Amino acid sequence: MVEVNAGRRRPSSVVSLTRVPELAGWHREGDEIVLGACLTYADMERGELAALVPALAQAARTIGSPQIRAVATLGGNIGTASPAGDTLPVLAALDAVVEVAGRAGGRRVPLLELITGVKKTSLAPGELVTAVRVPVLRGGQEFLKVGTRNAMVISVVMVAVVVDLDGQSVRAGLGSVAPVPVRAREAERYAGEHTDWSRGRLAGPAVARRFGELCAESTAAIDDHRSTADYRRRAVAVCAARALARALPPLEA
Ligand SMILES: Cc1cc2nc3c(=O)[nH]c(=O)nc-3n(C[C@H](O)[C@H](O)[C@H](O)COP(=O)(O)OP(=O)(O)OC[C@H]3O[C@@H](n4cnc5c(N)ncnc54)[C@H](O)[C@@H]3O)c2cc1C
Repeated sequence: MVEVNAGRRRPSSVVSLTRVPELAGWHREGDEIVLGACLTYADMERGELAALVPALAQAARTIGSPQIRAVATLGGNIGTASPAGDTLPVLAALDAVVEVAGRAGGRRVPLLELITGVKKTSLAPGELVTAVRVPVLRGGQEFLKVGTRNAMVISVVMVAVVVDLDGQSVRAGLGSVAPVPVRAREAERYAGEHTDWSRGRLAGPAVARRFGELCAESTAAIDDHRSTADYRRRAVAVCAARALARALPPLEA
């Protein structure tokens, strides 16, 4: 609708997916959650799903207004493939796998392979996102977003941190700092090596700060009408350090 209202698109027809029951809601399959493509942000914000995937709930709560959250869907966020799509860093951090269906049948593709550029996906013509699979993990999760105001705002920077206590790993997804969602692999490796996994605590507060710096180094931030590259790197460093310290509290120095 944003593109239609701005005169950038004139679709000759529009297909509504809202009455396809197979695409709605979510369910659990063992250690995985299957999120329907038509799951709305309102569905993610609270309840059992929010307890199972808290970073997704935190991201959903920052999106648009209650009216937007009541109708806008996860499949639409992925299909838009905006660098500022708020669920995308969370899905990236969770190693989400997207289920796609088309006339030739179905396939599963990792989110980071599905999104190929600014508003570009590897979906073939006629292909539809039907669901997204994310793991149920034991450990803290955080999503932080910076914008030019508190609500109804397009992200300047997003950071999602997910801790997997059983797999002994930390994962970080970044958004609005590159054409596609970014995984901060070096920062993840560093945090994993500087965690006391037997106690589920970071080795110290300095680890969170260094993690933030490494996250900032993994961005490809640019100057644009919303922010500068310098500010974006600084905001990523601060948010990533804060998110990690909340998700995996440090042992006292
Ligand atoms: C006022 C306003 C505020 C907004 N605020 C935010 C915000 O804070 N954060 C944010 O991330 N986004 C925001 N958005 C953008 C948008 O609403 C979301 O990205 C939303 O998730 C789109 O979902 P939808 O179901 O409405 O998709 P649509 O708008 O119907 O579709 C968007 C695109 O995705 C494609 N698509 C939809 N469903 C699928 C599917 N199942 N498979 C494949 N392709 C599909 C469509 O063809 C289209 O190209 C905002 C939009 C508005 C109008």
